[in-house]
Amino acid sequence: MLFDELNLIEPILKALKHEGYTQPTPIQEQSIPLILKGKDLLGCAQTGTGKTAAFAIPILQLLYQQKQQHKEQKTIKSLILTPTRELAIQIEESFKAYGKNTGLKHLVIFGGVSQNPQTEALRRGVDILVATPGRLLDLMNQRFVNLQHVQILVLDEADRMLDMGFVNDVKKVIAKLPQNRQTLFFSATMPKEIQSLADTILHQPEKVEV
Ligand code: AMP
Repeated sequence: MLFDELNLIEPILKALKHEGYTQPTPIQEQSIPLILKGKDLLGCAQTGTGKTAAFAIPILQLLYQQKQQHKEQKTIKSLILTPTRELAIQIEESFKAYGKNTGLKHLVIFGGVSQNPQTEALRRGVDILVATPGRLLDLMNQRFVNLQHVQILVLDEADRMLDMGFVNDVKKVIAKLPQNRQTLFFSATMPKEIQSLADTILHQPEKVEV
């Protein structure tokens, strides 16, 4: 199968060509059509399978199509939670690469660095926010982040977030999101605690495993 067969829009296909991607990986082939349809997703996939593009590509497409209809600008419409700074940076780079022809604004925030550049960027407005849970909660508590317009939430590497002790932070963040949203949940492993977290936050999810 080729990316051309996934009903992707031209700005994204062009960016993928620029990256040298022609064929979707199995997780991309399975996930992209489901996400474009608005489904919740429970994805069991390791890093290295192409899972970042599996969620970044359809999120960019859905938000770009909204932007074409002049829907609300510069509010956070998609939030990606990930356990580490390294992963957060990689994810933001993926949004940058695949979204370079969309004009959508993205930002990455994580702890251990000054918050000022992050709050400045938030003030200017972003469409897609990639964050580690601790810093996000910190900025939310200081009222620098408004999550009232989030339509698509991604939990990336949920099992690692649990291992690193972020579960309560994640739950606090999710409590501030609109109930009516699309949720994409990725984990390399599915122990009981992860399954029950998934059960509480997903709505009739489609399951994807690679
Ligand atoms: P990930 O599993 O998201 O960390 O991605 C693993 C690596 O695969 C990244 O370096 C991506 O740039 C690359 N990649 C993702 N999707 C594709 C694709 N369809 N074709 C070629 N490379 C890809």
